[in-house]
Amino acid sequence: MSWSFWVLAPSPIAPVTMPDPGLIRFPKAMATDVPPPPSLAGRLTEYVALAPRTTWRIGGPARWLATFETHDALQIFWSRLSPETPRFVLGGGSNILVSDAGFDGVVLDLSCGINRITLQSPAGKETPEAIMVAEAGASTRSLAHAARRLGLSGTEFLSGIPGSVGGALVMNAGAHGRELKDILIDAVALDPDGQRHTLTPNDLQMNYRHTHLPHGWIFTAARFRLTPLDPGIIRQTMQRYNHYRRTHQPLSQPSAGSTFKNPPQGSPAWQLIAASGMRGAAVGDARVSDKHCNFFVNMGHATATDMTQLIRNVRDAVFSHSGITLETEVALLQPRGLTAF
Ligand SMILES: Cc1cc2nc3c(=O)[nH]c(=O)nc-3n(C[C@H](O)[C@H](O)[C@H](O)COP(=O)(O)OP(=O)(O)OC[C@H]3O[C@@H](n4cnc5c(N)ncnc54)[C@H](O)[C@@H]3O)c2cc1C
Repeated sequence: MSWSFWVLAPSPIAPVTMPDPGLIRFPKAMATDVPPPPSLAGRLTEYVALAPRTTWRIGGPARWLATFETHDALQIFWSRLSPETPRFVLGGGSNILVSDAGFDGVVLDLSCGINRITLQSPAGKETPEAIMVAEAGASTRSLAHAARRLGLSGTEFLSGIPGSVGGALVMNAGAHGRELKDILIDAVALDPDGQRHTLTPNDLQMNYRHTHLPHGWIFTAARFRLTPLDPGIIRQTMQRYNHYRRTHQPLSQPSAGSTFKNPPQGSPAWQLIAASGMRGAAVGDARVSDKHCNFFVNMGHATATDMTQLIRNVRDAVFSHSGITLETEVALLQPRGLTAF
């Protein structure tokens, strides 16, 4: 069952009565400070399965799922969530393990209304680089293919990375020697009060699979710097990258890509896992892929408990064998929020 959470009303805004007002409170004190949002600018749905929204296909439901039609709707909703309400922004769900009990709060999904990709300025004689803007809910693959169609190079490495622009910003997603910070001009983020901030890669201290976004902030859009190139050449590069993935990664099985980050120096995580003898190790239907042993796959009915135990077993085995503690790249979403494995 779902509810539209705003109706057009003279100020102060009248939120539709919530079935569980204790969970999501709209503080009355703030209601008069903001202009009324457009009618029906968002939707709250109760008890939404999260497993189909993740690439691992694992996990329980969200207590609430919120979608938005406009940035204003997102901004107002975000700023009015009471501090005690657990909230989580879900992108493509390609780097997250949702607990079997799900998430007892509001999951924000930006993929419907906050997903536009536009060309802000083309390249010219004076400005050799073009600027593209992508909203956080757009998929990285859509961004890469939109840029290719425009004959703009720079996003080829994103064409094989699943997920959203927001998730890629948080992870500083990368592949084939490139990462998001190489093409990022700046990103727009909302703080917990709904104030907009424009942040550069320096502000965000981006490095290998890490971005410093303050707690409780959310990305809404980003600008990218791209260079003109023949679309045919861009397509060939993408095809080469994707051929490499198909050859080396178990793409036909549900996974979250690399489970662990590579250590700062020395052998990559997959080599350490292979050397520890954990290739093919399993807990229930959660299994270390034979094809790429940093990919942990769901063989059909894996639970989050299985996958968590497998991750811990592999981390322990690698430590026993090499003395190196691997850091997870994937995150674990428990009923009250993100926790460590
Ligand atoms: C087959 C496969 C291959 C992969 N290959 C690669 C690869 O080559 N390189 C690589 O880097 N990764 C890779 N990944 C991992 C993953 O695709 C990336 O990390 C991706 O960028 C995550 O984006 P997402 O939208 O799915 O994030 P999600 O999994 O939805 O979320 C990840 C984190 O980002 C946060 N988040 C999402 N959107 C926002 C937002 N708008 N504002 C604030 N926080 C937000 C979430 O709250 C969560 O903490 C791969 C995954 C798979 C399944």
